[in-house]
Amino acid sequence: MESFHSVSEESNMIVAVRVRPLNALECTRGQVTNVVQVNGNNNELTVQAGSSADASAGVTHFFSYDQVYYSCDPESRNFACQAKVFDGTARPLIDTAFEGYNACLFAYGQTGSGKSYSMMGIEALDDAALDGGPPHDEAGIIPRFCHELFRRIEAVKAQQQLQVEVEVSYFEIYNEKIHDLLSVQHAAAGSMESTPVQHQQRPALKVREHPIFGPYVVDLSAHSVDSYSALRNWLAVGNSQRATASTAMNDKSSRSHSIFNIVLNLTDLTSDDGLSSDTDSISSLRQTRRSKISLVDLAGSERISVSGSNGERIREGVSINKSLLTLGKVIAALAETRKASGPLGSGTPSAFVPYRESVLTWLLRENLGGNSKTVMLATISPASLHADETLATLRYACKAR
Ligand code: ADP
Repeated sequence: MESFHSVSEESNMIVAVRVRPLNALECTRGQVTNVVQVNGNNNELTVQAGSSADASAGVTHFFSYDQVYYSCDPESRNFACQAKVFDGTARPLIDTAFEGYNACLFAYGQTGSGKSYSMMGIEALDDAALDGGPPHDEAGIIPRFCHELFRRIEAVKAQQQLQVEVEVSYFEIYNEKIHDLLSVQHAAAGSMESTPVQHQQRPALKVREHPIFGPYVVDLSAHSVDSYSALRNWLAVGNSQRATASTAMNDKSSRSHSIFNIVLNLTDLTSDDGLSSDTDSISSLRQTRRSKISLVDLAGSERISVSGSNGERIREGVSINKSLLTLGKVIAALAETRKASGPLGSGTPSAFVPYRESVLTWLLRENLGGNSKTVMLATISPASLHADETLATLRYACKAR
């Protein structure tokens, strides 16, 4: 028996899937097999679902996406290392940012499927980056993006008279509440000597609408950075805040969404009329481009069992499901809108996009719709014992088209 799901066509939404390797524990468990096969050339994959005891035994599910990264076997011709995943998914968003458009890349998948590995990588190995050195081989999308962004900024500045401002913010959404990961008592940009404020002790932050820039978090700290190493230091501050809060609350990080925002402001310092010597009119002609890039590590997508859970866990499960469900509805509605307005569209009115139904989607609104570029990176485990969650992730990823 077979079932087929596919996504395709050029659009502002790219859907990529990454398959992690079986881990040591899975390899030593005799009954665990690899049920995911990839055809790297066509970006197709199959999942062999169901044990012989299941009704679905023997079903082969076919999927196709814009990009498929197979990170299971380093010997394989199709093996996708961290650099390859970055090159295919996030590197093009740097062009998007320089063009003045917003962008968003989010990692979606069950806990343990490789979201943090893909987004951050193995941070302990990346210490050299704190001194401005290039990211380590195991560094993930976020440090690579930051490094490449500053490399491009230096290259552009060498060619044209540009004023470049980069600002970062980093926060977590947990139970629909927002916590700043970069609030420091003695803020010194990029300094590790700053004392992070434990965010459990701080009130949750609120979302408001800005008339031009759209939804924003009131009182969220934002930090100007002028180098990769300064940016990398802020990232380290945020990650350590996140890890501390997570340890204190029983691995909370897998149940919260983390959002790393980079705002890029580019101002062309050259006058474009060449006639007026009036400095005010010259400055009014200066072109400013602003773009916001959100790099998001979502909460684990696994369905949380509520049996035997306490009130807090049930609340948590409900809010994770609400954000991920709303994100699914938003990307499906955007896909509908694209289809309706595309060259073959039916001309039917745009679908309603329910951004306001969750804090996550409300805050990502300016990064998901319109001219923004969005990349969804769905991460999956190839292990037979995770086949159901893997199928759920792959089906969710299909809704983006
Ligand atoms: P998640 O963030 O989805 O909960 P992690 O990124 O923490 O999952 O991954 C779980 C484990 O699997 C980690 O030990 C991580 O290093 C490892 N891992 C995940 N993806 C890969 C990969 N593509 N290659 C090698 N190891 C990986």
